[in-house]
This record gives sequence, structure tokens and C-alpha cells, in this order.
Amino acid sequence: MKKLKQELLKDKNTLEFLKQIAGPLATDIVKMFEKQSLTPEQVSDKLNEKITVVRSTLNSLHYRGIACYKKERRKDNNLYEFYWEIKYKKIIEILLIQEMKKFKKLEYTIEDKQIHDFFYCPKKCIELPFEEAAGYNFKCPNCNSNLEMVDTKKKITTLKRKKTNIQKNINRLEEILNKINDDTKGYICE
Ligand SMILES: [Zn+2]
Repeated sequence: MKKLKQELLKDKNTLEFLKQIAGPLATDIVKMFEKQSLTPEQVSDKLNEKITVVRSTLNSLHYRGIACYKKERRKDNNLYEFYWEIKYKKIIEILLIQEMKKFKKLEYTIEDKQIHDFFYCPKKCIELPFEEAAGYNFKCPNCNSNLEMVDTKKKITTLKRKKTNIQKNINRLEEILNKINDDTKGYICE
């Protein structure tokens, strides 16, 4: 199980996604929760980062249902402390939705390319379907260069390869999702 979490956190897509939703510290912070729950103070000490940055990162993750917390009274001073946990399943669920959207979009684009001829500007301004290109007399509306026909066969092959890769990624994420368990019982996740 620990291995699966590590595998997930090594993945380029996952790291990019976490950074996008919760900032540059997100991946370092999430990695710290592989084994245990922690307070923001503990995270701040271990990472040598400001407590305010740690808190705001956790809050951003909480907003997406990824970071969960519970309030506990400390035995030594009777004060409340917030313990946090990370819900790895939620990370995978969000990633899966993103990948499926990409997959659908690609499917649509491939279908579209198979039905229509496309024309492009050699200066890379634009790419248009036949009807629109004809409307511009096959001249780029931006720079007036002659539009050229897109080699759709080559393009479709590339898109299909991309689609296969996304499918592989979806399968892998689904496999991890089925095997992974989160220890977030009793925590408030959203
Ligand atoms: Zn142009």
C-alpha cells in the first residue's frame, strides 16, 4: 500500500496537479502524510516552512476534499490541536475525471479530423476546417499567407497514440484506486 502511494506521488501528472491546486509546497506536504497524521506545526517544523504557508496549502487541499482534519485535545496542556490526513483516493478520483475528460475530447477531435479536411497557416497562426478556410479564400485571416492542407493521416496517428497513453493511465489509476485504503475515518474531509 505504501508502495502504491509512492508510485502515485512519483507520477508527473499527479505532482503537476497538486502543485496547480495548492501551490509549490503541495507535493512535499502530501508526501509527509504517507505514514501518519500530522499537525500543521509538525509539518512546518519538518519542512522548515512558515506555518501560514503550510496552513494555506492544507486549506487548498481541503477545499478539494484531499486534506482532512480532526480536532483533538492534547494530554499535556489540554489544548485543542488539529491533526491532518491525506485522502489519496480523492487525488486519484479527481485525476481520473480529468483523464476521462481528456480522453473524450481526443475521441471527438479524432472523429472530427476523420470527417473534415483541415487547413493550416504555415506561420502557425491558425487551423481551420475546409468550409471556413474556403470562406477566407484559403488565405490566413491573420497574416494572409496561403493556407495549406493538413496531413490528417499523420495527425490522426499521433492523436490515437495519445489516446492509447491516456487509456493506459486511466487503467493504472483505476487499479491503484481499487487497492488503496485511506485512514481518514473520523476526519472531516469536505
Ligand atoms: Zn497566418
